[in-house]
Amino acid sequence: MPAKGELLYEGKAKRVYRTAEPDQYLVEFKDDATAFDGLKKGTITRKGEINARLSALFFQKLSRQGIPTHFIEQVGPRELLVRAVEIIPVEVVARNVAAGSLAKRLGLEEGTSLKRPVLEFYYKSDALHDPMINNYHIAALELATDTQVKEMESYAWKINTILTEFLKPANLVLVDFKLEFGLFHGHVLLADEISPDTCRFWDRTSMEKLDKDRFRRDLGGVEDAYEEVLHRVEGLPA
Ligand code: UDP
Repeated sequence: MPAKGELLYEGKAKRVYRTAEPDQYLVEFKDDATAFDGLKKGTITRKGEINARLSALFFQKLSRQGIPTHFIEQVGPRELLVRAVEIIPVEVVARNVAAGSLAKRLGLEEGTSLKRPVLEFYYKSDALHDPMINNYHIAALELATDTQVKEMESYAWKINTILTEFLKPANLVLVDFKLEFGLFHGHVLLADEISPDTCRFWDRTSMEKLDKDRFRRDLGGVEDAYEEVLHRVEGLPA
């Protein structure tokens, strides 16, 4: 594993370190879990390893399908070597089924299929609690250029199609997910993670939740759900 250099950033679920290569960072996934803007805290046993592994598998799948990502390789059980991107402060959420904040905001019953998938943007700002924004806000605040926004939208739709199809043989529904993108030498790359912390995965048959909602809503069986998603995804053909 490349040596961990200066700790650049420590977030709720990850630490990012410099490496000897200026263009490469090492991301370490933690077992710590938070929800509701950090108000709820806990740990999920093996979460770091599971989310690192799942992110690696999803990034590999996506890059084989033509999505540029920051992922280089998995270098440890909970460590990914990635391209040193500068994160664009816009979270992109894609949704296929009403759940969470969308169900609440629009008065839809959780589990209602959306007639068309939905994309949303959120301003990545802890101080402001990640408010929802649109293309005009992104331009007004110069969070990203119009071209970068179009690229993020186009990648998000492609990722939704690829992952939805990929997860079908695992009997998983991709309900919704959050993406973050970064800039690397002027190019937009998919960054951050793709895991049960950032996606809603439901069992296709029972509609059982197999993601962070088990932690957020005290449903129990949190560790088992993360293990189950990993087990199913590892069993999929590449
Ligand atoms: N999400 C995330 N980070 C956030 C907010 C949301 O990864 O800070 C993910 C969440 O796991 C879900 C999707 O984005 O898969 C949509 O989340 P929603 O807006 O419903 O918010 P929540 O109900 O999680 O507050």
